[in-house]
Amino acid sequence: MTVVLETQNLTKRFEAIVAVDDVSLQLHKGELLALIGPNGAGKSTCFNMLMGQLKPTSGSVLLEGQNITGLKPREVWRQGVGRTFQITATYTSMTVIENVQMALLSHHRQVFSILPYATRKYRTEALNLLEMVNMADQADRHCATLAYGDLKRMELAIALAHDPKVLLMDEPTAGMAPKERVALMQLTADIVRDRGVSVLFTEHDMDVVFAHSHRIIVLNRGELITEGTAEEIRNNPTVQEVYLGGGTVFGSEEGAEHA
Ligand code: ADP
Ligand code: MG
Repeated sequence: MTVVLETQNLTKRFEAIVAVDDVSLQLHKGELLALIGPNGAGKSTCFNMLMGQLKPTSGSVLLEGQNITGLKPREVWRQGVGRTFQITATYTSMTVIENVQMALLSHHRQVFSILPYATRKYRTEALNLLEMVNMADQADRHCATLAYGDLKRMELAIALAHDPKVLLMDEPTAGMAPKERVALMQLTADIVRDRGVSVLFTEHDMDVVFAHSHRIIVLNRGELITEGTAEEIRNNPTVQEVYLGGGTVFGSEEGAEHA
């Protein structure tokens, strides 16, 4: 197994709180890896360090063996670590395909090009990406009119426009109906398989986690407490205790707070 992204003894303190405590994890090539844990476990803090948003107190982040610890978000992104957002960030005044074309322009470092140019350039490439997320039929719709689930799929196409090695998805299905969540993760799983991209994601819905991840890592109070397959995690007494202790039970996470 090739390791694509790795943390070594990653730690983040906020004064008295140790939000992430000595976490060493590995994301393999072509893997869909879930990071789970109760609210406040340190998942988002971990993501923020991986994407350069937060500087670790100690420890390191390696991308394909290269130390990328402390790089700025834009530099990390340029090295091939893409992301989707907990809150969708798009240009609502533009159409679906224009958003993807803008991402392609940015990827090819033509950010200063003007929009009419952008709308011609990369149309085929953008359509291919929209095809991949089953959004080609909505290419010319204005984003402001899209349903939430469709916006999230467009966001995925935008992330893929940068041809990332790694995709970080912090609660990609937050705010979605259960059916939409399953669909988005199925789509993500297909993309992982077809493009060989590696995905690290967090998710509240345990059905989604168990159905789609190749492997699961469990955080609690900042610490990595265990990792394994869906089967191993589902039957792990410590994990059950953590979730039951936190007031959440597998399979009934509706309305869980999306911190
Ligand atoms: P999760 O995403 O697993 O719900 P977070 O990473 O958001 O958890 O939070 C982990 C812990 O760190 C929590 O106790 C949270 O209150 C704390 N925390 C997160 N961000 C900050 C911050 N900027 N300042 C102080 N404490 C923070
Ligand atoms: Mg979070």
